[in-house]
Order: sequence, then structure tokens, then C-alpha cells
Amino acid sequence: MSYQPAVATKMSREMDKPLISLHLVDSDTSLAKVPDEAPKVGILGSGDFARSLATRLVSSGFKVVVGSRNPKRTAGLFPSAAQVTFQEEAVSSPEVIFVAVFREHYSSLCSLSDQLAGKILVDVSNPTEQEHLQHRESNAEYLASLFPTCTVVKAFNVISAWTLQAGPRDGNRQVPICSDQPEAKRAVSEMAITMGFMPVDMGSLASAREMEAMPLRLLPAWKVPTLLALGLFICFYAYNFVRDVLQPYVQESKNKFFKLPVSVVNTTLPCVAYVLLSLVYLPGVLAATLQLRRGTKYHRFPDWLDHWLQHRKQIGLLSFFCAALHALYSFCLPLRRSHRYDLVNLAVKQSSLGFVALVLSTLHTLTYGWTRAFEESRYKFYLPPTFTLTLLVPCVVILAKALFLLPFISRRLARIRRGWERDGAIKFTLPTDNSLAEKTSHV
Ligand code: NAP
Repeated sequence: MSYQPAVATKMSREMDKPLISLHLVDSDTSLAKVPDEAPKVGILGSGDFARSLATRLVSSGFKVVVGSRNPKRTAGLFPSAAQVTFQEEAVSSPEVIFVAVFREHYSSLCSLSDQLAGKILVDVSNPTEQEHLQHRESNAEYLASLFPTCTVVKAFNVISAWTLQAGPRDGNRQVPICSDQPEAKRAVSEMAITMGFMPVDMGSLASAREMEAMPLRLLPAWKVPTLLALGLFICFYAYNFVRDVLQPYVQESKNKFFKLPVSVVNTTLPCVAYVLLSLVYLPGVLAATLQLRRGTKYHRFPDWLDHWLQHRKQIGLLSFFCAALHALYSFCLPLRRSHRYDLVNLAVKQSSLGFVALVLSTLHTLTYGWTRAFEESRYKFYLPPTFTLTLLVPCVVILAKALFLLPFISRRLARIRRGWERDGAIKFTLPTDNSLAEKTSHV
């Protein structure tokens, strides 16, 4: 592939350059003129993405020719510096052509096969979740199968039309790129740099499916922790509803439905915060138990535990969020009612203190609730007070952590985490400094 854009030589200076050079922008901010020697890029399609792409390409110093089925209708939507013409004409001279149409319309471009032969096609498409599940073959691979004489590069699909138009910002500068042809990949990477983006080499076109899944994953690391927090909230809310609203209504004919939006929510939030906080520490305890049982740290944890360990930060932050919400709600309640949760809340809010917060919360809940847990009047519909339920996981975590402090267990765990194996060749005695165990811990 011989495509060598002149802009490639300017790569090192591109970062210092303003994204929209002033001489390209006319008074009403539509983009006016591009120098004749600028490299030419083609775009098939005249939709939202094509328009934003054309704007960015023109402002980055490229000549743009847009191929539309109806150029007359769409020409007015593009910067005046971009040429809008019929598809056949648009693809005749550029070496790189962006395909800004949806997958289901790729086959309608087959009539252009002869003109496209030997050129680079950049597939920018994103499937919907359903399409992604439906097709085993990525959109880019499908495009490559329709145009075997072309080189397909997958790129720019993670960049929205809005970002293209507004210009890259720190958070969304990365452009993953993949192709089976390194030359073509390099050419598109250089274009991305010229446009102010940061190319990320994703390897061969086989990675296209993975790239097409990227925009489908909205805040991936938060999905499970958020669902977990929501699930806990629903469970505790239902439980508190039965105890605080339904039971008085059924057995005492008292209408306490007014409690639903504030009081029941406020009773639920600290429970969720408290249990979530303990769930930050539980996977560490399980991981340590597994390591002790296996006598090595070189066995993979089961996938579910691995994921749980990776999501601890998000779970902790959600715990903090619930505690903060509880604090907010407490302002809406008379001090008398909110007082009972203040200490738990205070402890949970100190999430930076992590485990100390968990211990303090548990001690508070135990001292506050010890006698109440045994009062018959506290059992509504035979259901124990909510705080007794919330104690379960934190108590398991704290007891397990306490067990791990026993010298013969902690020394064994420390050795395992420094590479010792029960059945392996590596045998050594642990350094006397026990803090090393913490420093080498992977959980
Ligand atoms: P759009 O606004 O619907 O534009 C699609 C364009 O495809 C139409 O304007 C049409 O232009 C062209 N086209 C060519 N052959 C066609 C046919 N047989 N039937 C219908 N249309 C045909 O969509 P878009 O938002 O620009 O998205 C285009 C591609 O970019 C998609 O693959 C999308 O996944 C991808 N993408 C979009 C964004 C975004 O933010 N919008 C972000 C990343 C990726 P003519 O009528 O002029 O031929």
C-alpha cells in the first residue's frame, strides 16, 4: 500500500497545533478553504457521522469528498470546503475512504467495487447490542468479505459524531485501530493523530468484533456493583416496608404509608451502605481462605471471585454514596429518628478508613441493638429488626479477619503470598517483619 500522506511528516508537531486552524474557519464558523496540496479523503454516506467527520477532516487540513446517493439534498449540510458528489465520483481519487453507512447498507455499495479496488476502506460502524449478538462476524470483517480487493481498517467507531465535531478532549482521545494490513493501519493512525486523536493499535481485523463491543459497554466496571446495590436496596426496602408500614396497617389499623418516601428509604440506605462495605472485604477473606486451603498463591481464583476482587473499589464507592444519601435524608427527619443511624453512618462515611469503619459500625450496631434484638415487640410479623440482618456479612468478615491474625495462620498466609508453596519447590522462612505480608498481598 503506497498511501503516504504529506501530513505524516508533521506528526511530532501536531499536538501543539490548534484543532481548528483559524485560516480554515470563515466568519460564520463553517469551514472554508483547504490548500490544493492537502491529501484527499473520501467519505461514503452523508449522515450525522459523515458530517462531523468531514468537519474535523477539513479543519485538520484534509481535502474531503463526500459520496452521497443524493448530493443535491445533502451538500448544504457539509462545510463549504468539502465536496459533496455522487458515490462513484467520490471514491475515484482518494486512497482512503471512510464508510459512514450502516452494516445493512454495505451491500448497496457493491456497485462501486471496481472503483474501490486497492483502496483503504475505514469501517466506523457500531452494531446495536442485538446486531452484535446476532452476527458472529464483525461489521468490518463483513465489509472486507464484500470488498476482497480493498484493505479494511476498523477505526473511529468509539468516537461519537459529537466528539468529532467538538474536538477531542482528554477523556475520549483514544482511537482503537485494527487491520490485517500494517501499512493501511499506519496511514489511518497518522490521520487520527493529525485530527488530534491518539491511535491505539488493536492488532489484526479479528479484533474488530471486540472494538465494536466497546461502545456497548456503558461504564462496564460499574454494572455489577450498581446492580448489587440496587438489589440490596430493593430487598431491604421491601423488608422495612413489611415491618414499618404493612404490619402496623394490618395488625394495628395504623396508616403509616407516609413513611414510604423518606423514613423507609432512610432506614434502608444505611443497611445497604453497611452490607456493601462488608462486601468490599469479604472477597479478600475468601481469597485468603482459598490460598490457605490450596497452600499456594499460584492457582487462579475462580472467575466470580476474580471479578469480585476487581470490583471492590466500585462497591466501596457505592457504599459511600448510600451513606452520603442517608446523611442527606437524615436532614429531612427529626433528629430523634435519625439519631439511631448516626454512628453507623459516621463510621461508614469514613470509607478511607475502610476496615476500621466496618468494625466501628458493627460495634455500634451490636451495642445499640443487643437488647432490642431480644425484645418481642421488635419482631413485626415475626421478622427480626433490620439491623440484625445487616450484621450477618460484616460479622463473618470481621471474625474471619480476626482468625487470620492468629500467628500460625497469618504466618502461613504471609509465606504463601510471598511465593511459598505447600507442595512446591520454593521453601523458605518468612522475614521477621510481618508487615511484608501486607505489602506482598494480592488481595
Ligand atoms: P445516518 O445519519 O443514518 O447516516 C447514514 C448514511 O448512510 C445516510 O445519510 C446515507 O447517506 C448513507 N447510505 C448509504 N447507502 C445507504 C442505503 N442503502 N440506505 C440508507 N442509507 C444509506 O447514520 P450515522 O449516525 O451517520 O452513522 C453512520 C455510521 O457511523 C454507522 O455505521 C454508525 O454505526 C457509525 N457511527 C456513528 C456514530 C454517531 O455518533 N452517529 C458514532 C460512531 C459510529 P446518503 O443518503 O447521502 O447516501
